[in-house]
Amino acid sequence: QCPWGAPKAAPMSCSLADVMSEQLAKELQLEEESGAFPEVAAVAEGPFITGENIDTSSDLMLAQMLQMEFDREYDAQLRREEKKFNGDSKVSISFENYRKVHPFDSDSSEDEVDWQDTRHDPYRADKPTTTPKKGFIGKGKDITTKHDEVVCGRKNTARMENFAPEFQVGDGIGMDLKLSNQVFNALKQHAYSEERRSARLHEKKEHSTAEKAVDPKTRLLLYKMVNSGMLETITGCISTGKESVVFHAYGGKYVLYFTTEEDKVIPPECAIKVFKTTLNEFKNRDKYIKDDYRFKDRFSKLNPRKIIRMWAEKEMHNLTRMQNAGIPCPQVVILKKHVLVMSFIGQDQAPAPKLKDVKLSSEDMKKAYYQVLNMMQQLYKECNLVHADLSEYNMLWHEGKVWLIDVSQSVEPTHPHGLEFLFRDCRNVSQFFQKGGVTEALNERELFNAVSNLNITAENEMDFQAEIEALEKMNEDHVQKHGKKVSTFPSDGDPPIWGE
Ligand code: ADP
Ligand code: MN
Repeated sequence: QCPWGAPKAAPMSCSLADVMSEQLAKELQLEEESGAFPEVAAVAEGPFITGENIDTSSDLMLAQMLQMEFDREYDAQLRREEKKFNGDSKVSISFENYRKVHPFDSDSSEDEVDWQDTRHDPYRADKPTTTPKKGFIGKGKDITTKHDEVVCGRKNTARMENFAPEFQVGDGIGMDLKLSNQVFNALKQHAYSEERRSARLHEKKEHSTAEKAVDPKTRLLLYKMVNSGMLETITGCISTGKESVVFHAYGGKYVLYFTTEEDKVIPPECAIKVFKTTLNEFKNRDKYIKDDYRFKDRFSKLNPRKIIRMWAEKEMHNLTRMQNAGIPCPQVVILKKHVLVMSFIGQDQAPAPKLKDVKLSSEDMKKAYYQVLNMMQQLYKECNLVHADLSEYNMLWHEGKVWLIDVSQSVEPTHPHGLEFLFRDCRNVSQFFQKGGVTEALNERELFNAVSNLNITAENEMDFQAEIEALEKMNEDHVQKHGKKVSTFPSDGDPPIWGE
């Protein structure tokens, strides 16, 4: 019989209860205890240590969590009062300044610590600490014995069973959370350690569980979205991709009172796309972003974390352009760091099926084809964009039409590889609809010309490709020679300059 009791079974991965407050608070408390002071966690029972050494910062954290909840209620009440006070009057008095929580504009700077600035190299595994032969370290009341380590080790292990799968803190990265007086500092520190860990983990092999779950920092972001009333509940994980995790959520009762002009109504159902912040994936993406002049002057100064955010930002801007052109696509609700909230395509938690998964009648198939052709042209001409990952995987069938999603990698046609991306898109689309029995479907080269108006006449694939690359090269040279002004995002780019 184990004196510490049987450890509870580990919760399933991707547990959304984690996002909810109580669970989060509890978890973070345990996490802090075991993560910050792995050697003295069992202080109360320890033979060398008196009660005065007991750490109270987790109580502080809990108190602050509660305060946050209280503030939220206070603000809700304030909003009601404000509404009542102003009534139908044309002139209204804002109670803005009396609000306590400003969940979406309060935390801009504190998280901006570059990982380069931290003492720990995120790519290097920390040395495991061992207890020397003599059996203890430290002096006086700070003494830590081997025995303690064992006791704590077991206890922590048992506790850690309660954590979500990614909370394996056994690597004991030394951090002194005593320094932090604030709950967010504690959370931040923890998030960093988590990130270092996941960077290492990643090098070993992609752990499916760790892949699925979101890191604590993200969880805090999600928690805040729920806590602020913007989202009602986060119900489940829709998709786990290489570069993102998508959740379903019900929109909150409140409007986004922090938007400037008019209040924005939260869609009844939302999709939350969390861009993965693990450090090695962005490498696959940077060819899209690095060469995108919209981001050029920002790219060089950025650290990986910021690049991930830019990726999310890019999706937001691209979706907005599409929305403005009337292309069916998710509507942006809010972007917070690497987390993008948008309207949910689907109903009652069931996402609309991808084109690849849906069995369409030949009539619908044809309809879908013409719609896609149309959207590709709109995307190119009106949005000045190339989707760059267009295929039956990123088109959803909903309410009798095709919806485009997944546009974080979309680029402007003048992107150094923009035309190649377009050609690839055309190939996917053309093949899909031709195989799907749409006899009217243009082949990839015809489709390319129909979308771009470039009228490349090459008869075969190879020559066509070569001409595309020649055009791209010409454009680049043109850019070099004329020193095209590097636009600062988000101003919309110049139209393509071919054919001038
Ligand atoms: P990835 O880069 O991982 O492919 P996607 O944006 O394509 O990211 O999203 C992955 C999956 O999540 C999609 O295939 C789709 O099933 C679902 N999804 C994403 N956004 C939405 C949305 N707004 N509404 C419904 N489902 C969505
Ligand atoms: Mn996708």
